[in-house]
Amino acid sequence: MNCIFCAIAGKEIPSDIVFEDESVIAFRDISPAAPVHVLIIPKEHIASVREISGTNSGIIAHIYEIAVQLAKELGIFDKGFRMVTNCGEDGGQTVGHLHFHLLGGRSLKWPPG
Ligand code: AMP
Repeated sequence: MNCIFCAIAGKEIPSDIVFEDESVIAFRDISPAAPVHVLIIPKEHIASVREISGTNSGIIAHIYEIAVQLAKELGIFDKGFRMVTNCGEDGGQTVGHLHFHLLGGRSLKWPPG
């Protein structure tokens, strides 16, 4: 499978890693949309949030725990931040490996475009 985020998780291509454990890796987005813009991904290849079920949903809770920890470490916890996962064509997903955007460091607009 030719998946850029699997390649990042496998250290086949470099990234600016801010967190890693046995099941998750987090790295800075190559094209940041905010002063803090980190992508948090499961190391296991899951194509999108559409593939989440009772058998693998535990990873989502784990990712949110890591997001809170990273928000503290990266200085965006107190003022607030956003976690976003885009899904499919209409959702604006461009990389077919489940990922959560952790965004902060500026006042974010709503609704998204
Ligand atoms: P999405 O559009 O929600 O699928 O988000 C994909 C994100 O991956 C975009 O914000 C890209 O800037 C980011 N991205 C793509 N390639 C890389 C890479 N090699 N390293 C870091 N971020 C990347």
